[in-house]
Amino acid sequence: MGGPVSCWNGPPSFFMCPNSSHNPAPALIGMEHTDLVKLCHSAGVKPVHADRINAWVFRHGVTNIHDIPELPQTLYDYLDTHVSQLKPNCVANRKADDGTHKMLLRMPDGKEIETVLIPGPGRLTQCISTQVGCAAGCKFCLTATAGLTRNLSAAEMVAQVMLAREKSEQEIRNLVLMGMGEPLHNYDEVARFVRIVTDPMGFAFSPRRVTLSTSGLVPAIYRMIEDELPCNLAVSLNATTDEVRSAIMPINSKYPIAELMNAVRDYIGVKSRKRVLIEYVMLKGVNDSIDDAERLCELLDGLGCTVNLLPFNPFPGSGFQRPNDATISEFNARLSKASLVTVVRESKGDEISAACGQLKTEVAERRKRTPVA
Ligand code: SAH
Ligand code: SF4
Repeated sequence: MGGPVSCWNGPPSFFMCPNSSHNPAPALIGMEHTDLVKLCHSAGVKPVHADRINAWVFRHGVTNIHDIPELPQTLYDYLDTHVSQLKPNCVANRKADDGTHKMLLRMPDGKEIETVLIPGPGRLTQCISTQVGCAAGCKFCLTATAGLTRNLSAAEMVAQVMLAREKSEQEIRNLVLMGMGEPLHNYDEVARFVRIVTDPMGFAFSPRRVTLSTSGLVPAIYRMIEDELPCNLAVSLNATTDEVRSAIMPINSKYPIAELMNAVRDYIGVKSRKRVLIEYVMLKGVNDSIDDAERLCELLDGLGCTVNLLPFNPFPGSGFQRPNDATISEFNARLSKASLVTVVRESKGDEISAACGQLKTEVAERRKRTPVA
């Protein structure tokens, strides 16, 4: 555990800035049950109190340590001085007509990240960011244009869930790690986040309702298998030939389609019977032909994958276009003919630019136009 907190402002709430030199103590909301047990041990109290902290912080969402009932006084004192408690500012909070709800959070170091709540029939899905920016450089992705600023800590990912829960009336049923960033470039913190949100004594999200989406970092997919990370896997395949995939996703030069599909096959495995979701961004004239649809059927033959077709969500200067509806329907029909389950996912909340990374950019643009005195 870190030393005593040097700067202490107001009542505790369990958020932190991981790299802040002002506040070096670890954040309570970034701690797994095993960490909480260690915390109790260091405080000299029984490990059973870890269960109580887990339940009150993650299940009931209390943001003040002293609102957790019946902890020994020594533990309150220990928490007061050994865990950091800073809260990110919600600097934009906008709802589109279709119910999509986007929040922009400013971390204590000034870095901004976004999270989106997407309504569905009887459920709310939250899209979580895992990095500030992204280093993967996919050509069709707005997040890629600014490169990577830094990884997010597990605490900063948990903070997104806690804030969204605070701001929404409906229960959040699903979590998808499909916001800004490549989750597998930030494996340790993302894995910690996944374990925290699926802990049955805490948030208790079902592992079947947490989905990690990757551009295809093959060694990290094997790490997920080895660690038995309690979540689903989604793979952004986005092309059916190495030539096209390498042109739009630089990661493909390192881990080409055949290697990626082997990893998908191994992930699905006979033993665990895990399912993998395949994402496919549709780019006009690039990857939307019937030949592509046929190659996609071959690649996915016998794997039982569901395919999410994502018509390209345009942004200025991208150089790509969304295929027309007829092309998308034909492509979709070809997959359905091969008995693949498909879903066409239009970007929701268009009027608030709900695609990957767009709110942040939009706010930045507005600030440029309206300088603050
Ligand atoms: N980095 C991870 C998760 C974040 S991106 C990944 O790439 O999988 C989430 C999804 O949004 C990915 O499937 C990606 O291919 C898709 N995406 C990115 N930019 C898009 C755009 N402009 N239009 C439609 N989908 C996009
Ligand atoms: Fe990063 Fe995913 Fe965007 Fe590619 S699509 S740049 S991996 S966020």
